[in-house]
Amino acid sequence: MVDSFFFDRHCLQEVLTFLPGCERDFALGAWSAWIQFKESNTKTAMHTIWILGDQLSPGHAAFAGHAPGTARVLMIESKARGSVLRYHQMKLVLIYSAMRHYAQELRKSGWEVDYYTLEQGLTFEEGVRGHVRAHQPATIALAEPNSFLETVAIEKLGRKLKIEIRFVSTTQFLLPRRDFHEWASGQRRIVMENHYRRMRKRFGWLMDANGQPEGGAWNYDIENRATLRAWQRAGSPRAQTPLRVSPDAITREVIEMVEREFAENPGRAADMWLPVDREGALKWLELFIRDRLPNFGVYEDMMAEHEPILFHSLLSPMLNLGLLEPRECVEAAIDAYRNGRAPLNSVEGFVRQILGWREFINGIYWYRGPGYRELNSLSAAQPLPKFFYTGDTDMNCLHHVLRQDLALGWNHHIQRLIVLGNFLLITGINPQQALRWYSEMYVDAYDWVMAPNVIGMSLYADGGSMATKPYAATSSYIDKMSNYCKGCRFDPKQKTGSDACPFNYLYWHFIDQHADRFSGNPRMRTIVSSWLKRSETNKEDVRVSARGFLSALT
Ligand code: FAD
Ligand code: SF4
Repeated sequence: MVDSFFFDRHCLQEVLTFLPGCERDFALGAWSAWIQFKESNTKTAMHTIWILGDQLSPGHAAFAGHAPGTARVLMIESKARGSVLRYHQMKLVLIYSAMRHYAQELRKSGWEVDYYTLEQGLTFEEGVRGHVRAHQPATIALAEPNSFLETVAIEKLGRKLKIEIRFVSTTQFLLPRRDFHEWASGQRRIVMENHYRRMRKRFGWLMDANGQPEGGAWNYDIENRATLRAWQRAGSPRAQTPLRVSPDAITREVIEMVEREFAENPGRAADMWLPVDREGALKWLELFIRDRLPNFGVYEDMMAEHEPILFHSLLSPMLNLGLLEPRECVEAAIDAYRNGRAPLNSVEGFVRQILGWREFINGIYWYRGPGYRELNSLSAAQPLPKFFYTGDTDMNCLHHVLRQDLALGWNHHIQRLIVLGNFLLITGINPQQALRWYSEMYVDAYDWVMAPNVIGMSLYADGGSMATKPYAATSSYIDKMSNYCKGCRFDPKQKTGSDACPFNYLYWHFIDQHADRFSGNPRMRTIVSSWLKRSETNKEDVRVSARGFLSALT
């Protein structure tokens, strides 16, 4: 097209030599404009690859078959989306900074990125509409969104703008959604352990030459239950390298933006400490494998004041954004085992978290459908206490875990499940209010992961379809696994009364309230019958303490 343009223009110039100069220039100008118009209408239309904020994968499938000349990239920071909940400031910094770093990397590789910043104040719809008007793409392709809400909204948008929107498979999970659905549909009961064993066989990870689990067992949980006392006896080991990434210029700019635009949100943007790009995420993974994986298994469940991270991987923020892919995390851990750099109990424990739990949770989310997040099988109606946003409570375990979350936007699994989740469960906090809080307060929170973990695993609000028994406990587990009780104004040994640990009477009050339902559960039957055998005076003491606590809870 370009060659013929110059050839034609040359001929035309020859033909027009008889015209006076200004008329000749006018004729040439008009002719060039017409040629350009003709060109823009005849050349092949470009495609658009739309990258959502939690889909920053290195292997993003929408790029397959495209090069910078055949597709443009669209990225939108939507203020409306960022304001759906009062998200922890650090989570907003993480997402917007990671998006800007991702766009920068794409531009370096020659991609044209149409990027709408938060300051432009556009919704997704306005951003897409503006992009379509300016570039008229033939199609828009994006990875299948990670939530029901986004899937429906984007499909609707395509119909509204009369543009073909194509979803391609995500690389953020190992198992296609359809695959889990088919498997789950054929199960009498959907059990994580069965899913995990199937995944181990399917990927051949930690399997020996005879098709048996490496080391002869499917899991090594028995070795992975060290208490706080055991950790102290071992000399209170800690990882070598402190975890913190210093913010670069892009992150500093985003921090200022978040401080300005989301000033009332919890957390402090300025304390951002996580990696925000692929390079930083890979380094983070490398440090975990080198420094923390060897002790990951054994100290997986313990908690210690002022030791927030211990040997956890802290990979969820990067995995859930796409900066890391599950396969490379699992393979790095198995490689460490094969090279004698980490023991089997740790490596298997870590592999189970990703191959087992992470994939299972995502599978359950898509299998159970959008109504799952609305379940409330125990009819729990107590409002979420305000101290969840401040950590201002005399209960030392809650105080430390909540303060840690405010400072880092992150707690480890036992803190989320056995300290916070347990408290929310046995006090009967409304599951949708709890879900909202968890979704706001964690840097790794997204609908697909929060709904099953909170509604199913933690709060038993799905009636026990995910957890075979409620994760409810008295103070004894927290006392054994942490040093929180040492500095607490409550006594973990006392069962009732004003100085007793509230977990003790709240637990039995919870059993009392749901005794009929739990007596039908084989894993709860003995607990219920031990409650029923108690004297009426003892039961009444429990009820009085619990009612007193709950009525003062605001
Ligand atoms: P590790 O203990 O080092 O585990 C390695 C990886 O395994 C994690 O990075 C994560 O990707 C995966 N994993 C382990 N357990 C789970 C699980 N139950 N669900 C999904 N992935 C899992 N995880 C999130 O990623 N986002 C959440 O919003 C989230 N909310 C939770 C809420 C509750 C009430 C509970 C009980 C758990 C929640 N989890 C969530 C699961 C788990 O607590 C976190 O994945 C983990 O604490 C993240 O820290 P880590 O990366 O150091 O994990
Ligand atoms: Fe928590 Fe009870 Fe221990 Fe206090 S005594 S730290 S409230 S478990």
